[in-house]
Formats: sequence, C-alpha cells, structure tokens
Amino acid sequence: MLLDAEQRQDDWFRDIVFDVCVCGSGPAGITLARKLAAKGWTVGLFESGDLELKIDSQELSEGPNVGLDYFTLDSVRLRKLGGTSGHWTGVTHPFETYDFDTLPHHPLSGWPIARTDIDPFADEAARILDLGAWEPVADMFEGASGRLKPISFRSSTPITRFGEKYHEELKSSKIRTYLNATLVDLELDPSLGSVSSLIFRSYESDKPFTVRAKHVALCLGAVENARFLLNANRQISAGIGNQHDLVGRYFSEHPVFQVGSIVLRSVPRHGPVLHYIPSRDMMLKEQCLNFVLSIPSTVEATHKRWIREAVCTAGVTQRLVQSIIGRPFQCYDQNVWVGFEQSLNRDSRVMLSNKADRFGQRRAVLDWRFNELDFHTMRTSFIEFGRQLAASDLGRARMVDWLQAEKPQPPGIDKDVVGSFHNMCTTRMSENPREGVVDRDCRVHGLQNLYIGGSSVFATGSYAHPTFTIVQLALRLAEHLDGKLRS
Ligand SMILES: Cc1cc2nc3c(=O)[nH]c(=O)nc-3n(C[C@H](O)[C@H](O)[C@H](O)COP(=O)(O)OP(=O)(O)OC[C@H]3O[C@@H](n4cnc5c(N)ncnc54)[C@H](O)[C@@H]3O)c2cc1C
Repeated sequence: MLLDAEQRQDDWFRDIVFDVCVCGSGPAGITLARKLAAKGWTVGLFESGDLELKIDSQELSEGPNVGLDYFTLDSVRLRKLGGTSGHWTGVTHPFETYDFDTLPHHPLSGWPIARTDIDPFADEAARILDLGAWEPVADMFEGASGRLKPISFRSSTPITRFGEKYHEELKSSKIRTYLNATLVDLELDPSLGSVSSLIFRSYESDKPFTVRAKHVALCLGAVENARFLLNANRQISAGIGNQHDLVGRYFSEHPVFQVGSIVLRSVPRHGPVLHYIPSRDMMLKEQCLNFVLSIPSTVEATHKRWIREAVCTAGVTQRLVQSIIGRPFQCYDQNVWVGFEQSLNRDSRVMLSNKADRFGQRRAVLDWRFNELDFHTMRTSFIEFGRQLAASDLGRARMVDWLQAEKPQPPGIDKDVVGSFHNMCTTRMSENPREGVVDRDCRVHGLQNLYIGGSSVFATGSYAHPTFTIVQLALRLAEHLDGKLRS
C-alpha cells in the first residue's frame, strides 16, 4: 500500500513493529523491500520524496563541493520514489572477479566477500533491471590486444525507472510504502548496541513521528547514507557507526577524462564505441587500478576535420602525422577516454556543513580528491593502449598535456566529463571495524540490527557501473535478513 506521511494519523504506527524498516526507495531500497515482502515479512518502506520530484525534497540534497570540480550534489541524486534511477542511463556490467581481491599496491583493498557470494543473484538482478542482450564485443586489435581485454556492456531496456516500474505494484503490495517521510534520527537502546526506533519528518508538520522495527536498512544513496550517520550524533557524539572516524571517508567515483587522442591508418571497422579493460596481470605488473578505455568510432566528419586541420596548420599536426604514419592526410583521428577505479583515499570524503536543512540536519559537503595512484592509473591505461596501437601498427597515440605534468590538474566539468554520477565507498565493507563501516553482511559494525544498502558499502569501486552490483547486494541482504528473522 502506498501512503503519504503528510496525511498520517496519530495511531498509524502505534501498534506496528516492522520486521524490517527500509529507508530510501531507490534501486537498493525497492529491491530489498520487495524481496523481503515476497518472503512474508512485514516491511515498511520510507521515502523522503514524493511520486514526482519536488523542490521541498530535492533541496534537502544540496551541499557544497570543496574538493575537485564536481557536479552539484543535488544533481547527482533524486529524491522521489525510485530514487536516482529516475535519471540513470541504464548501462551495466558486473564487477570482475578480481575486483574483490586484495591488490598489494592498493592499501585497504579487498572485499570481505568474493564475487561468488553475489553471483547467485545475477540473474534476478538482470530481470529487475530489465537487462537486454550483451552488446557485441568489438576489438580493433582483432584478438591481439595483449594485456587489454575488449569488453561490452549490457543495458537496461527500456531503462528501468524503479518509481515507474513498481508504482502500481507498491500500491497493491503488502509493503507499506510511505512517501514524504524523511528519516532524521535513530534511537539506540541504552547499551547503544541496536536501533530501537526511527524518527521521521514530513514536510508540512513540525511534529516528528516514530517507527519501530526489528531491523533497519538505510538505502539513502552513498552521500546520504554517510550524511545521515554523521548527523545521528545525539547519543554517540561522532555519529552512529563512526567509532573509527570512517563514515563518509573514501568517497569514490568513476572519474572519466579524455586521456589522449589517436591517429589511425584506416577507418576502423568496429562498432560505435570500443571498450578495453586491463588484465589482472597488467594491474599487478603496472601497479595500477581497474579502468575502462572508451574509443568512439571515427566518423567521416572527424576524418574531414583532421585532414583540414592537418592541411591548415601545416606545422606540428602535419609533421606529427607524417612522422608517425608516413602517409599524410590519409589517417583518422579520435579521442580516447578513460573511466577508472579510484584508489581508497581517506581525505576524499563526505563531511557535514555547518549549515542545516529545514529538518535541522547538517548538509553534506563533498571533498572529492585524487592521489598519485589515480593519475598513474589514467596514464598507464593510455600508455598501454598506445603501445598496443603502435605494436599492431594501426596508428599512434598522444596523451593529453595536463596528464603529463608532474602535478596534474584535471580539467573541470566545463571542459571534460569528470565523473559518472557514481558515488561509492562512503560506508565501505570490511572484516575489520578499523577499516570500514559495515561487515560482510552489510551490517554496521557494532550495531546488531542496522544495515546499509547501496554503493556506499562497496569496499572498492571497480570500473564497472554500480547499479547491477547494488541490486545483487540488496538481494543478498534480503537473504541474510530472512535468515536472521527466521532464527
Ligand atoms: C545521470 C546519472 C546517470 C547514471 N547512469 C548510471 C548507469 O548507466 N549505470 C549505473 O549502474 N548507474 C548509473 N547511475 C547511478 C545510479 O543512479 C545509482 O547507482 C543508483 O540509483 C543508486 O541506487 P540507490 O538505491 O543506492 O540510491 P538512490 O537511487 O539515490 O536512492 C536513494 C533514495 O533514498 C531517498 N532518501 C535519501 N535520504 C533519505 C532520508 N533521509 N529518508 C528517507 N529517504 C531518503 C532518496 O529520496 C532516494 O529515493 C547514474 C546516476 C545518474 C545521476
């Protein structure tokens, strides 16, 4: 049933103790709630937004960027039923098996779970996300790509907007879905070891309302999961789950930059875009992290532009072409982008501002940062591609100038793509509470009944788009909670 918290009666929550209270109705929250309800549990799904986007709710996500140039925080997530799936692009790829492993050159890396722990949920996740067929894999090196592996993606078709897809189902479901219900606090029991109740606010009333549940799952998105826990400091001054000062740290994106351009001897025969990732051996040998290089197919217009430029400049460009290809004016150019896995950086983080929103919650501040390993991954990806291009004599490559600098200054959002709108790792999963916020079951270390869903629990970020893994993890969390509730 779909209910509006604005219309609530005083007795709505008096006699209910939900088996699980799920907060946030994006891909993580809706998947978790549906799966638990299908197993017969009493589920409350609480969403801060409404059916459609409203200024009142969206405005709660505003907050400044104080680090690298990044998209405004209220533009990277949506507060409405279905969450940010309301404007995701629908591209997916599972994490690679080795994304879960420890890399010696990447401190803290390694998940406490393996891909085999989430593989059993892959087919169901694909159905939930309406994934179509894999795009054909294209390879300009025709099998001789060496340490680079060509890959393709699988897209949600038509793009799954969780709010639209599940609206009717939620209306008639046993799940009690409450719109306009913003979680603002948690009450912990006197031992501070478990959550005893949740406190919400709606927009039109000044009066908070309290809900009880046996288990609680925060699925608020990676920025808001961290922001909420940091704000929940009434009983624990550092914030819930933040005993080791880790909540909000290690904020990761899949940064995307143009790393260089290439000239090719002939028009490539591949499809619209080529994608290459590194082999695990290459990552180990070059001490870089995972990445995906993307090379759009050269089009006729580009060909003409290149010729025109080569003729007109008659200087550097023409000499470059002649020297490396030997056949001026008969080559084709293209830019190359890399999206990559960021290294875990304590200083890249979500923090709290001194400014509060209408509910008194301090706003999020994002300090997004790179370190040398990130620049190294970017450079290595392109150098390897250039090497392969030369080895196969298909063409030559040139890295962008800024990346060659000793202290690179990445271009801002007015000049390049910069990020993928993928926010990750702010409540990362770890075996050891000193290295992360949740354990292998997505349970907040030290709290018996508080769980987190979404990409904030990613221990590391891979190159792969996050939502497929988010849905797999939500299904796994539902299995875990089902087991808990049965025991
Ligand atoms: C432009 C764009 C393109 C993208 N493209 C892709 C793509 O191609 N592939 C891919 O894998 N990913 C993509 N993503 C990322 C994808 O949208 C997210 O990974 C996904 O939506 C995260 O799901 P979630 O459920 O964890 O969080 P969200 O979808 O952000 O949902 C969180 C929910 O929690 C609610 N909420 C927040 N705070 C509170 C509170 N205090 N109380 C109650 N409710 C609250 C919000 O209103 C929201 O409904 C894209 C994102 C954007 C912005």
